[in-house]
Amino acid sequence: MTINQTFVLGPIENNSYVLYDENSRQAWIIDPAMEPAPLVDFLEKHQFTLEKLLITHGHFDHYYGLPYLQKMLTTPFDVYLHPEDLALWQSGGGARHFWGQSLEVPKPTKLLTDGARLSLGETELIVLHTPGHSPGSVTFYCPSMATAYCGDLIFFHGIGRTDLDGGSFTDIQTSIQQKIFTLPENVTLLPGHGPATTVGEEINNNPYL
Ligand SMILES: [Zn+2]
Ligand SMILES: [Zn+2]
Repeated sequence: MTINQTFVLGPIENNSYVLYDENSRQAWIIDPAMEPAPLVDFLEKHQFTLEKLLITHGHFDHYYGLPYLQKMLTTPFDVYLHPEDLALWQSGGGARHFWGQSLEVPKPTKLLTDGARLSLGETELIVLHTPGHSPGSVTFYCPSMATAYCGDLIFFHGIGRTDLDGGSFTDIQTSIQQKIFTLPENVTLLPGHGPATTVGEEINNNPYL
């Protein structure tokens, strides 16, 4: 059985998610944020092996924890990003804009494509390319758990900023309408910041759409 554990980490209160398979003891992390020590503590305490690091988009607060994980964990793991956010990643993911400092982290080892399927035990995640907040933003949809990890695409009664580099209000509206609002209404949306919501709640009550 695959289980999700949510962590709220760092000064921008990012949601980092650990998805783990109880049988194989393999784990994935979605968006390792700033101040990531609790993620490593959790993996070690339960003797999980980190197999994949999935990044929803190339903003620094969503992958800042990567060097720390590489330093602390002994087994290697892959880092997944959509290619349209590679340039953003390589320019520091906006860290310079927010902090006036750049950020040097290793490059992703695997590139995500729309419709790709990733398997953790018997659980499958489907990659949905959902641009708008950034050109390479993706959502990881898990049909069997009825969850979708949507990064900064859509929040509880909100949507992601589109005024940053590569952002597009038209694209974010299209992504949400075509890729998120077409999912079953009971699907829980797990965003990059703030509380979880559901597809149905946002179809009915999101003021931006
Ligand atoms: Zn972002
Ligand atoms: Zn963010």
